[in-house]
Amino acid sequence: MKKVKNRAFSALIIAFAVIIGMGLYVYRYATQGEMWATFTADSQIVTNEGKLISGTVLDRNGLVLAKAENSKQDYNSDPLIRTSVLHAVGDFPGNIGTGALTAFADHLSGYNPVTGITGEGGTVQLTIDAKINAVAYEAMAGRPGAVLVSNYETGEIICMLSTPSYDPTVGFDVEDIAYAGAYLNRAISSAFTPGSVFKLVTVAAALEQIDDIYERRFYCEGKTYVNGAEINCTGTHGEQTIEEALANSCNCAFAELSLILGGETLAQYAEAFGFTSSHSLNGIDTKKGNFEAYTRGSAGLAWSGIGQATDLVCPDSMLRFTAAIANGGTAVEGSILLGETGKMSTLLSPDTAEALGDMMSYNVYASYGTWLFPGLEMCAKSGTAEVGNGTSHSWFTGYITNEGSPYAFTVVIEGGGGGLANAGSVANSVLQALVNG
Ligand SMILES: [Zn+2]
Repeated sequence: MKKVKNRAFSALIIAFAVIIGMGLYVYRYATQGEMWATFTADSQIVTNEGKLISGTVLDRNGLVLAKAENSKQDYNSDPLIRTSVLHAVGDFPGNIGTGALTAFADHLSGYNPVTGITGEGGTVQLTIDAKINAVAYEAMAGRPGAVLVSNYETGEIICMLSTPSYDPTVGFDVEDIAYAGAYLNRAISSAFTPGSVFKLVTVAAALEQIDDIYERRFYCEGKTYVNGAEINCTGTHGEQTIEEALANSCNCAFAELSLILGGETLAQYAEAFGFTSSHSLNGIDTKKGNFEAYTRGSAGLAWSGIGQATDLVCPDSMLRFTAAIANGGTAVEGSILLGETGKMSTLLSPDTAEALGDMMSYNVYASYGTWLFPGLEMCAKSGTAEVGNGTSHSWFTGYITNEGSPYAFTVVIEGGGGGLANAGSVANSVLQALVNG
């Protein structure tokens, strides 16, 4: 009798295990089925010997950027277009893992949770404007870096360029150093020393944490010393208000602000503004940046609030932050798929966003020169990030307030030199094409 009881008990346990296993299978089929069907090892299912059988990638205006039909694969017929949209669209062999052809292979292959792969290709329409990407590519003039433009009200990415790029129908010489990292989408998968564009973060913290910030005056004699280390400035700025210190991008003033705020507070702001985390661009994970909380009174702390030290920023995170300033403090999460509006995240209070926006407008008016951006109501911050050996990354981030043109942008040129003259000029070319083109 005891034996029978034991057997019944064992059978019960087995039955339970089967039920749980089936439940788990059904759950995972529902949640991960697309992944199974498009898993690259199953290449014969989705693709023919690694070739996408069918599927079409369009730009926001319906221009065909890549198309596969009966295993025949084509890119756009214009070499300039297919080179400048390469990192957004991806390539058929899948070298660019974050491109639409790889990241959205499920949609493209026409995956259906009931029947699996239908064999009828799907269409993926991107938010990017291929012609604007081409303008950005030409403006970069062979220099490595990234150009991003988004609609800050909808989160749609209008321009996403990474250079060096190449014509996917030709490829490139892997020995050629000019193509180093050409498979990488620098706009979303790289992080760079930000330099002075990071002063927007420090000034946001200062506006919220230092009560008399507008009454304070900052003095600059061209350099200052923190814990025995020299902090050099770009000029000798004399007495300045907070607005003037940002417009001058005064390192002495920002060293002082960083020391007042402290490493922990700066780190909290960098984290809250999304610089130290990865973000999802329709399921494509962006690169995390870095911000280290340096100890009280240290030179590292002073440099970290200036955007140097060990600071690293992904261009897409800078765009997200800048777009939030433009949008009253709320970031609409970026999207590269047309019709998919991102969810909202509050990054800054409306008051802080407005105050930052006023300062970014003042930067252009008082320091950069409005004549550099004809017809554009520009709010911006430049950055020239020192990365050693006398080289510096050129940054320009901001937005425009022209009626009907709610665009935010971030441009970075690796080793590009002065932020305004180089990245600022690329930003202007792209925005002119968007607004006045
Ligand atoms: Zn200064």
